[in-house]
Amino acid sequence: MTEVTTNSKMQLSEHLALPSEAALGHSNELDGSRLSPHFTLGEFTKSNHPEIYNIPSHVAIENMKRICGWLEVLRDRYGQPIIINSGYRSPQLNKKVGGVATSNHVSGCAVDIRCSGAEQAITFAYILIDYARKSQSNFDELFIEKNKYGRYWVHFAVRPKENHRKIAFLNG
Ligand SMILES: [Zn+2]
Repeated sequence: MTEVTTNSKMQLSEHLALPSEAALGHSNELDGSRLSPHFTLGEFTKSNHPEIYNIPSHVAIENMKRICGWLEVLRDRYGQPIIINSGYRSPQLNKKVGGVATSNHVSGCAVDIRCSGAEQAITFAYILIDYARKSQSNFDELFIEKNKYGRYWVHFAVRPKENHRKIAFLNG
């Protein structure tokens, strides 16, 4: 793998031949790339399955940058750093974690924001909805989700167009 990271031609051929290995090599280099002042590509592409290819396209990166505009507002108004549980998911990763094929995560349009509990989740949701109203911007999905272990997160999605402003409470 040393050659993969030092030789660009080798990198391309490895990328085409062995996407999962190439992904590991590439992701380490790109993790620190900034999408916005306080959010990096690595925060959006990390997963519990490092063996699964999870490198976004340029289009997906543009979608992540759009969401980061909202996350910067959220961070600023909440006054504390925002932690991303999950952002971009390649089709392979999405399948592995049981996501629906049409998930906004696959296009880089969705992010799951970690919450300490219901109060923080509602506060985050309030800030995002308030910003949408004041800035006359639209979002596609804002779901306050809770899993069977009682952990909360806000699933938030913004698409380049066709934003449906869906709001829901989901219990896993
Ligand atoms: Zn989500």
